[in-house]
Amino acid sequence: MTSSQVTREMFDQVMVPNYAPGPIIPTHGIGSRVWDQAGKEYIDLAGGIAVTGLGHAHPELVAALTEQAQKLWHLSNVLANEPAILLAKKLTEMTFADRVFFSNSGGEANEAAFKLARRYSWEKHGPHKHDIVACNNSFHGRTLFTVSVGGQAKYREGFEPVPGGIKHAPFNDIAALEAAIDENTCAFVVEPVQGEGGVTPADEAYLKRARELCDQHNALLIFDEVQTGVGRTGALYAYMKYGVTPDILTTAKAMGGGFPIGAMLTTTEVAQSLTVGTHGSTYGGNPLGCAVANKVMDIVNTPEVLQGVERKHELMVSGLQAINEKYGVFSAVRGMGLLIGAALTDEWQGKAKQFMTAALEEGVLALIAGPNVLRLAPSLIIGDDDIKEGLARFERAVARVAQGQ
Ligand SMILES: *Cc1c(COP(=O)(O)O)cnc(C)c1O
Repeated sequence: MTSSQVTREMFDQVMVPNYAPGPIIPTHGIGSRVWDQAGKEYIDLAGGIAVTGLGHAHPELVAALTEQAQKLWHLSNVLANEPAILLAKKLTEMTFADRVFFSNSGGEANEAAFKLARRYSWEKHGPHKHDIVACNNSFHGRTLFTVSVGGQAKYREGFEPVPGGIKHAPFNDIAALEAAIDENTCAFVVEPVQGEGGVTPADEAYLKRARELCDQHNALLIFDEVQTGVGRTGALYAYMKYGVTPDILTTAKAMGGGFPIGAMLTTTEVAQSLTVGTHGSTYGGNPLGCAVANKVMDIVNTPEVLQGVERKHELMVSGLQAINEKYGVFSAVRGMGLLIGAALTDEWQGKAKQFMTAALEEGVLALIAGPNVLRLAPSLIIGDDDIKEGLARFERAVARVAQGQ
């Protein structure tokens, strides 16, 4: 069988039915444009769910990957490799952290963070101090531990029994957080901007209070920056924008620009609890992924790219507001940097997917964040012309849905 014989229908025959991908199959992309099997072109405002932060086929990333591909693909953690050490050094220089653990995904980075928080507290304070506090509506991954910590019950349904020692509190609610964090809390985990939960930024006062409460109760503050990290909000990491420093930070998605890699960052003091043999990953810190991520971090952590994100945020938000002035389908346009949510009005509740499908038909890739919010997370270096054309196509999609066509 050749690739030209592959059809979308075959997906439904051979895949476990846990996804419902759109009707077309993209085959290649450059920058913020991708093409499907029929040669139809799309503007990518989805970024592979905030992953392809430097667009498709970025020449420097292609070079980093292919150069490493000719040298060394894999060793496992039985031996160290140069790209991983270089990347870890870079991450410690660029952030608050002193120590790095590499994973292959965001969920695994969080799994490591939660295990480390438990282990650190167990060692330092005793086994009673094991509660993890998380937010309602949060998303931290799909492993059993991360769906348990995550604040969306639908992801746990039918998978019980799930791990215990986890408490949930409403997001952005200081009083509820004060009530939830106590002497048994080992960590509070929060997304600086809730991504999957609807693109809702945390209030600065909320994160500042969280920091104080964690300090008062000897609990660790974990920022899940899997979606907000690597330039997405206009800062390298969102914690820098908020001026609140966590004890543990998880990062993935855009870190590899599309190559699967994630990391958990922490301090020397906290890291000490993951002694030899306590945690691990066969692929974590794989040379191919680290070679690409080294290049991604270098490119993203520049004023050109980060300031560009802030400017493009304005373009995107004003464009969406202009669309809304005509059609009145959004109750709010929110988000930070190039993580933007357009919440639907009461009249359109539950219809986000309909807009996303119409957008695809009009030649633009968009996302949803739950049933009521449209989400856009384009490349951090998307050109202004692509933004303009992407929004024009998006407007046609909104018009069609709003007019019932
Ligand atoms: C996507 C996401 C995850 C899970 O990452 P995977 O790579 O899919 O395991 C965890 N946390 C947040 C905030 C995310 O957006």
